[in-house]
Amino acid sequence: TSPTALYTSHVRPWTGELLSTLRLDVTYTRGEGDWLSCDDGSGPPRVLDALGGYGANLFGHHHPRLRARMVQLLGDGVPVQAQGSIRPAAAELARELSDRVGRGVADYVVTFANSGAETVEAALKHATLEWRERAAERRQRLAELAGHVVAAHPETGEAQLATLRGLGYTGGTRTADAVAFALRLEDALVASTPRSLALDGGFHGKTTGAVQLTHHAAYRADFDSGSTLFVGAGGSIEDRLAACRRTVVELGVGEHGPEFTAVPVTTAVALFVEPLQGEAGVRPLRAEQLQELAAAVRAEGVPLVLDEIQSGMGRTGTFCHSEQLGVRGDYVLLSKSLGGGLVKTGALLVERSRYRPSFGRLHSSTFAEDDLSSGVALEALRLLDDDDVPARAAATGAWLMARLQELRERHPGVVAEVRGAGLMIGIEFTDQAGTSSATIRTLVSQDLLGYVLAGYLLHGHGVRVAPTLSSPRTLRLEPSYLLTEEDAKLVVAALDGACEALGKANAFHLVRH
Ligand code: PMP
Repeated sequence: TSPTALYTSHVRPWTGELLSTLRLDVTYTRGEGDWLSCDDGSGPPRVLDALGGYGANLFGHHHPRLRARMVQLLGDGVPVQAQGSIRPAAAELARELSDRVGRGVADYVVTFANSGAETVEAALKHATLEWRERAAERRQRLAELAGHVVAAHPETGEAQLATLRGLGYTGGTRTADAVAFALRLEDALVASTPRSLALDGGFHGKTTGAVQLTHHAAYRADFDSGSTLFVGAGGSIEDRLAACRRTVVELGVGEHGPEFTAVPVTTAVALFVEPLQGEAGVRPLRAEQLQELAAAVRAEGVPLVLDEIQSGMGRTGTFCHSEQLGVRGDYVLLSKSLGGGLVKTGALLVERSRYRPSFGRLHSSTFAEDDLSSGVALEALRLLDDDDVPARAAATGAWLMARLQELRERHPGVVAEVRGAGLMIGIEFTDQAGTSSATIRTLVSQDLLGYVLAGYLLHGHGVRVAPTLSSPRTLRLEPSYLLTEEDAKLVVAALDGACEALGKANAFHLVRH
């Protein structure tokens, strides 16, 4: 049985079929730097990997230093399964990440996970916990004070009840009734569904919780619990925050007895943002855009969660892409390249003043926090410094971006836009409205153009790319920081070939190779 047949029958039938239809059912046997080898004739013998593990391969395949560290850790017999003990590499990694993201200004507590989506789940869960615990603390303060106030002032003057009347209180002047009403407001808030906010186009993973935040309907629709309000075409951040606004009451004691003060609260637990949207088609946010979002949510005490799972680790020229936009996250998410391309790990950073200690008991995983993964991730951070990965990503990315802009100018009706930062670049193709090829029109209308181009680039030029997950007409380029100019030229030449075939409406050329 061929690997394709076995994969299709036993792993992901739909995907196996799609890959073979698109001629992307290639088997790779070895990876080194930006190159993959294919030994069984299913694809070209050597393939330049510009897809870069969907962003997880900033260090390339099997970086010699990272592999040596992993082999050393294995040789040393570093415990992988030592849950419920103090794991020094995880501790050191957490401090390093906090220092790098906090840059002397903020300090974070780190929760480790095993994948990007699980890191998002952890953030969602912590944000919900933070929201619930704050509400519970408020209710408890109210309940504690209520006892004293009712005993000391059984009756409350009508003037003191004005705030409560404004909120719908219809009872009399007995303090016990007024206080019971205030407690009911808190209870109603807690019983309401807390909402998450996320941006149109956002991609945060596919697990049941994370997919609520992933905008593309094809991924979310069947699992949508309605808990996320998307910011964009359906409503601005102000609209969304307004929809989440509620009022509760704080109790105090003044000269005339009980005093009730209206306090604004929100049902929004967090705003999730990718500072550079990856799967949406590599769309950078403008600095003012992110700053405005940050200011709007912070005014209401809602944490800003920056998902740097794809854009972080120096890929765009700085450790976090958000540094370039002048915004620091209350929560920051890292994964993908954090594992150096060799191990699966993720990290949720929560700013210390927001971190809820009970989260450590409520959230854990058998596999997270192991010293093998943390040890490799620590070595990746050392390598990032020693090789000045962010600067090299910025320089190579700028060179590549300039060549791709030239390409767009050479093929104006073919390439719509080239976007991105550093080594996170998207090339959006037009809808080919002017093409005389019915085949190309069909491919566009079925959202398959990007995949057909990927098949052409692979078989015709030995270059591996893929479309972004939510924008099928955008090809992503996420090579490693080791990409040479010579290899970058191969990528550009391959794309030039694709553009030329599209420009000439030559569908046959695209599928012949
Ligand atoms: N967040 C972002 C920004 C991502 O790009 C991705 C993966 N494309 C995820 C979360 C989910 O990561 P994973 O595939 O490891 O679950």
